[in-house]
Amino acid sequence: MVQTIVVGAGIIGTAIAYQLQRRGESVVLVDRDAPGKGASYGNMASIAVTEFMPASRPGIWAQMPGWMLDPQGPVRIRPSYMPRLIPWFLRFVAASRPSKLRQLEAAGAVLCRRVYEDLDALLAETGLQHMISSEGCLSVYTDEAEFKADHEHIEILDRFGFRYEVLRGNAIRDLEPAITRKIGKAVLFPDNRSIANPYLLVLALADQFRSLGGSIVTGEVVGFEQDNAGVRGVHLRDGRKLDAGRVVLAAGAFTGRLSAMLGEQIPLETERGYHTQIQAPGVSMRHSLIWPAKAFMVTPTAGGIRVGGTVEMAGLDAAPDYRRAKVLVKRAKQALPDLKVEDTSEWMGHRPAMPDTVPVMGRSAKRSNVWYATGHGHLGLTYGATTARLMADLITGATPPVDMKPYRVDRF
Ligand SMILES: Cc1cc2nc3c(=O)[nH]c(=O)nc-3n(C[C@H](O)[C@H](O)[C@H](O)COP(=O)(O)OP(=O)(O)OC[C@H]3O[C@@H](n4cnc5c(N)ncnc54)[C@H](O)[C@@H]3O)c2cc1C
Repeated sequence: MVQTIVVGAGIIGTAIAYQLQRRGESVVLVDRDAPGKGASYGNMASIAVTEFMPASRPGIWAQMPGWMLDPQGPVRIRPSYMPRLIPWFLRFVAASRPSKLRQLEAAGAVLCRRVYEDLDALLAETGLQHMISSEGCLSVYTDEAEFKADHEHIEILDRFGFRYEVLRGNAIRDLEPAITRKIGKAVLFPDNRSIANPYLLVLALADQFRSLGGSIVTGEVVGFEQDNAGVRGVHLRDGRKLDAGRVVLAAGAFTGRLSAMLGEQIPLETERGYHTQIQAPGVSMRHSLIWPAKAFMVTPTAGGIRVGGTVEMAGLDAAPDYRRAKVLVKRAKQALPDLKVEDTSEWMGHRPAMPDTVPVMGRSAKRSNVWYATGHGHLGLTYGATTARLMADLITGATPPVDMKPYRVDRF
């Protein structure tokens, strides 16, 4: 039987490995670290089906100087990284053409519409339903002006038929008593659930994969064995070589380094994000919370309250700047005045980001037995089960239930 090597044991690679093994394939999942220690470890745990819209909007380039000058702003480009970012940034701006935006929104919405069909099935068959919350997410606004500034988001949801409910005054506190009275308006997204601990979800899927006979190898992929027909194996840093009939590259934000070894350039960047986990927050919450004007998110998780967000463009190698995590906690205290910030831990992770916000899911344009699943940006946890389903269809020759053209690796 053809051996499939999946590189990257984040939510994406682990879910794909599980799906393929379940369909009777022989799969080896390879990661340089233990499973789930990349971006999938510390994300904001949200199944954010209402957040599929491209980050690029008309006129966005005008905001760039502010992103370079304000180290604590919601988006930060480290000036020293700007020269390397330019090719990606030009594609990011190009994605903001109105006609292009409509296509990109549709490509995200198609995936988000499928999310619960695929995620519920995955959680049910692996006995992990207890990991998902039954409450939604609240987007909060001080006043009408803040709400109006977010109108485009709501209009897009209307266009694609996603559910939401506008709340005012005490109706907000009825749902979440900890929210400050300064918040006058909110939108409830009832379908944005959360996962109690996204890291444990990856570990549980990895266990399920093993129990089906899959194997997990710890090692860093540093090269490929190739012949005219394709890739025949992967080389690990410690000198081992693993034979492969087929390779799936799902190494998150690092996938571009691997594709480059195959002569395939993917415009993939890291949008670095931060979280602070507050173990004993002194307030309890059922819903997650976003405050768009302050650009942060708060999620109740199994280990306390998690505060996070922000985008920092500084590449894969620069040291974290935890001032960005601290700013978010200050803002969270404005929303939740009784929040106690004690017993905390901070974390930084690399969102794998395509300039058009649409993930890559499909066959390599250079090597017919290589597949990519990357670029899931802010929605990798949300898209994990759906990506695994679609990739397993593609790889095993089944017809996926959606048109996969928008997700091709050679679309740029
Ligand atoms: C602050 C923050 C908040 C977020 N919030 C949310 C959210 O609420 N909802 C949501 O849906 N998404 C969210 N995301 C995005 C989500 O976390 C990512 O899209 C997702 O985790 C990407 O998964 P992945 O499997 O592609 O990558 P990763 O989880 O990064 O996994 C990639 C793996 O590849 C391995 N690897 C890399 N190179 C090699 C190599 N050469 N050899 C072997 N192994 C290698 C790494 O060790 C790693 O384990 C957030 C991200 C951040 C940073």
